[in-house]
Amino acid sequence: MLTVPFADLNLQYQSIKADIDSAIAAVIQDSAFIRGAYVDSFETAFAAAVEANHCVSCANGTDALYVAMAALNVSAGDEVITTAHSWISTSAMITHAGATVVFCDTDEDTYTIDPVAVESAITPRTVGIIPVHLYGQPADMDAIMAIARKHNLWVVEDCAQAHLARYKGRLVGTFGNAATYSFYPGKNLGAMGDAGAIVTNDPELAGGMAMLARHGGLTKHQHVIEGINSRLDGLQAAILLAKLPHLPQWTRARQAAAAVFDAGLNQIEDIEVPRVAAGREHVYHLYTVQHPRRDQLAAFLGANGVQTAVNYPTALPFLSAYSRFAHRPQQFPNAYRQQSRILSLPMFAEITRDQQHTVVNLIRAFAES
Ligand SMILES: *Cc1c(COP(=O)(O)O)cnc(C)c1O
Repeated sequence: MLTVPFADLNLQYQSIKADIDSAIAAVIQDSAFIRGAYVDSFETAFAAAVEANHCVSCANGTDALYVAMAALNVSAGDEVITTAHSWISTSAMITHAGATVVFCDTDEDTYTIDPVAVESAITPRTVGIIPVHLYGQPADMDAIMAIARKHNLWVVEDCAQAHLARYKGRLVGTFGNAATYSFYPGKNLGAMGDAGAIVTNDPELAGGMAMLARHGGLTKHQHVIEGINSRLDGLQAAILLAKLPHLPQWTRARQAAAAVFDAGLNQIEDIEVPRVAAGREHVYHLYTVQHPRRDQLAAFLGANGVQTAVNYPTALPFLSAYSRFAHRPQQFPNAYRQQSRILSLPMFAEITRDQQHTVVNLIRAFAES
């Protein structure tokens, strides 16, 4: 039986082992563990890669969201709008930044925030919007930016799953006031531990975010504000620097693998393959299908050596963490309906065609059973 893992981080390491090993050795040799040349170089290289003027590295993608909002002076009484369908960091950091989370439903096809729902969620207390480019597909940035301009709101793009994705030819993360990234090991660009970054074209915002992430000041013992400790460490920076040049090719490999799944799964009854809206370039952090008998399909694949995942089994408004809002399914019909239908199939740059055919054949066998 050919087993198919959900992702295989070791394969990627093996493909660039010499570069990674020497990057790690150099950091240890230099004792450049916190800040230093490797972190500075990564910030410069990453800003260039995503076509932003400034990159502020930080400890993880969750902190990136918090630091961005804190630098935008989010405060008590403010409302921040985000999507019902994301990883919990997006909404939890709104609360930790001191504001109130306002959820919006997703659009049925792309799993990204529905601009119509955003417009109707705006109140006099709304200060900002956090669209998430979920699974690697850009949200509808033209519509979201138009709403933000009309109501004078900031936009922070959560790009944790969407490194190098494009909307109408333009890289995600370049539309809003700032954009946050995660380099969690399984992300499209992954460190060997926790790591994150925020990018922006606004020099003042970049300065504020850097201070917030580094104890409130950029010069030792000069604490201009009260910050937190959210630093990227030198080892992760050096590892990310070694990986960054490969990201375009890894992204194309994910896209090619997605096309193979699309072609193989399209004709199979009951399976809905990812739908990519016009003008959006998907980078397939996750390849997520829908199936009416999701749990049975996942169990069948698992029993036959294929790992899958559900991202995410409970839409954000319905998590215990948000029971205080007493949200009802009818408020978020798409996110609610999809939470029991979505299934993420194995997806990584190095996945082989044999592995993919195994997955497709098993799904066809399940459909015919
Ligand atoms: C991974 C992720 C985060 C958080 O990133 P960490 O580095 O794990 O803290 C935030 N938002 C989304 C959409 C994510 O997928």
